[in-house]
Amino acid sequence: MSQQKTLVLASGNPGKIKELQELLADQGISIIPQGELNILDIEETGLTFVENAILKARNAAALSGLPAIADDSGLEVDYLMGAPGIYSARYSGDGATDASNREKLLSALTDAPANERSARYQAVIVYLRHAEDPTPIICQGTWEGHIARKHRGTQGFGYDPIFYVPEADCHAAELDKVTKHTLSHRGKAIAQFLQHMSL
Ligand code: IMP
Repeated sequence: MSQQKTLVLASGNPGKIKELQELLADQGISIIPQGELNILDIEETGLTFVENAILKARNAAALSGLPAIADDSGLEVDYLMGAPGIYSARYSGDGATDASNREKLLSALTDAPANERSARYQAVIVYLRHAEDPTPIICQGTWEGHIARKHRGTQGFGYDPIFYVPEADCHAAELDKVTKHTLSHRGKAIAQFLQHMSL
């Protein structure tokens, strides 16, 4: 990309904001978290990651007048038929925190044996040139793993302390940021996005 581009980031999640800023640094793209423009999170009324990412990006683009990028992501656990999925951030109900969501997930999996704890993170990145953009850029990344029984690591956010990554033989929260970005759902989706932007 020849010229620095400024996008509004349709998220108030500090973990995501940090990772997206890291992933887009040195790529000629600067992102302004929507909170800095006093734009609040909207209700995620969609039933898919794609729908929710579009809703968030459209709201941020409309209120900022800037092109917008949104990340809708979550964890699918096979033993729970794909839950918490699009509800990952709100899994443990009103006032949910990363810690309360992890506790709820560990409880839900108490009886799940080691070979039935497979899971994956999904990330959908949507880019809208403007609020009425009829052809959003949509990119998707997946990261396979297992839900462990114990917490390990202090890096990352969300479910990372209990997400075991077979390819690195550790929990996601034990990975340094560069390794997480190379392997993660978000890193893969952003790599696709950067390819689109350089076309
Ligand atoms: P969203 O804001 O509705 O997209 O919710 C995303 C939720 O999915 C987060 O709040 C986390 O609970 C979970 N999540 C997504 N990506 C990650 C990740 O990279 N690590 C840990 N948890 C994640």
